[in-house]
Amino acid sequence: MLIDNFNRTIDYLRISVTERCNFRCQYCMPEKPFSWTPRENLLSFEELFDFVKIAIDNGVTKIRITGGEPLLREDLDKFIFMIFNYKNDIDLAMTTNGSLLKNFAKRFKDSGLKRINISLDSLNRENAWHLAQKDILKDVLNGINEAIKVGLKIKLNVVPIKNINDHEILDLLQFGMERNISVRFIEYMENSFANKNLIGLTGHDILNIISNNYKFIDEGIELGSPSHYYKLENGYRFGIIEPHRDDFCSYCNRIRLTAEGDLIPCLYFDEAKSIKESIRNKDLSGAEKILYEIIRDKPEKNRWSGDGESSNRAFYETGG
Ligand code: SAM
Ligand code: SF4
Repeated sequence: MLIDNFNRTIDYLRISVTERCNFRCQYCMPEKPFSWTPRENLLSFEELFDFVKIAIDNGVTKIRITGGEPLLREDLDKFIFMIFNYKNDIDLAMTTNGSLLKNFAKRFKDSGLKRINISLDSLNRENAWHLAQKDILKDVLNGINEAIKVGLKIKLNVVPIKNINDHEILDLLQFGMERNISVRFIEYMENSFANKNLIGLTGHDILNIISNNYKFIDEGIELGSPSHYYKLENGYRFGIIEPHRDDFCSYCNRIRLTAEGDLIPCLYFDEAKSIKESIRNKDLSGAEKILYEIIRDKPEKNRWSGDGESSNRAFYETGG
């Protein structure tokens, strides 16, 4: 079992399989990076899988594949199946922008993917276009419909930004409710790669908007998830992820692995250790040692709760 210095059990690994993305979301990658990491520097799926086995053998029970946009990486279904085949009761999930999902949802489900989070910031074509800097809405909705059709468990991720999509919170909630899909509103996390003019809504702002139309009860933090859940009178549940909250990090159960093999203990700080050399040299006990070092070094708290604090991490590299 992996337990850090603050007595948190770390059982969740997020793997960013690529930093590349076909969107340019203003809060994440508003401009194409100067250069992409050359492909030979990325760990292959076999190499990533070597680390996955170490993580699972040490107590990781939940794995999420993310990016960049994970569907841009070829043979993703094969990677999903490798993990599923190693331990079929692993909680195997993915986060995607949904734009390419229509053609892949069934293949992913058949390969062992259990759950999928799809980012949907707007139901308005122009708004979605403005935020992602691309005309995306139709493809994303097609992706969501296909994921529903093949029976994947779905959540929708929304990042509410002032004067862009903050007036759509109730519409997005309604969209989720009609399909019985949980919507999770994520507070915008300030970072040095995002468009500097963005102002995110706080969890408090979001709840205020929803309380104008609905009564709900607070169900508290869901075990193993960063999300605080609320239940409406009709039974529908929605979530809010509040990294600015002072107690947010006390529930943290995760570490992150980038496509290049950097193991990252916290989305906020620059610290990371590379497992690439160990994995490429087949030094699996070396990689396991680095895993333990990362758990040991995991910081107690991010700093978003401070005034004007911003992360230097590129979320498209770390997978958000
Ligand atoms: N491309 C996929 C997607 O957009 O779902 C997966 C990668 S993306 C980095 C993972 C999640 O991080 C998405 O739900 C996205 O909305 C969220 N995200 C990215 N930048 C963020 C930011 N600055 N603040 C809050 N959430 C962010
Ligand atoms: Fe791409 Fe996801 Fe970042 Fe948007 S949030 S730019 S879709 S990686």
